[in-house]
Amino acid sequence: MYEITTNTEDTTIHLGENLAMLLNPGDVVTLEGDLGTGKTTFTKGIAAGLGVKRNVSSPTFTIIKEYEGEIPFYHMDVYRLENSEEDIGFDEYFNGEGITVVEWPQFIGSFLPEKYLEVKLTAIDEKSRKITFIPHGSHFEWVVEQLKS
Ligand code: ADP
Ligand code: MG
Repeated sequence: MYEITTNTEDTTIHLGENLAMLLNPGDVVTLEGDLGTGKTTFTKGIAAGLGVKRNVSSPTFTIIKEYEGEIPFYHMDVYRLENSEEDIGFDEYFNGEGITVVEWPQFIGSFLPEKYLEVKLTAIDEKSRKITFIPHGSHFEWVVEQLKS
């Protein structure tokens, strides 16, 4: 587990970029946190780190947006799937060659893979966010150790 506080939006983006450098094809990162805590902001950093050139915006209404970087990048916001039990083909994304970020993973609990990096964001005040990394699986334990250093 690793916990860090960022005091600016740019620091959160930079943290996302650093994380991206440590990820492999097929990795899944979940982002939990209330509205406005910085899930999409952090995702922008991951995308930038993966070489995505297009602007990354919230996929709330489309559920998933796909981007081309050095490898495919999938950005999901599954908020609208709450209580639906609907499978939008999660396996293809989670077991594919791209990297997937999932906002609101608590709404698709049973579809989540066994191994993933759990990230929780909490607002401390207007500009500060507590960001917690909880690894599931040895690869993500390694990733979190790298983030610390
Ligand atoms: P979410 O996707 O969780 O709803 P967003 O990333 O869309 O959140 O929005 C986060 C908002 O909080 C943005 O307006 C951003 O400018 C602001 N903000 C302020 N401080 C921070 C910080 N330290 N890290 C991330 N976002 C921050
Ligand atoms: Mg969002």
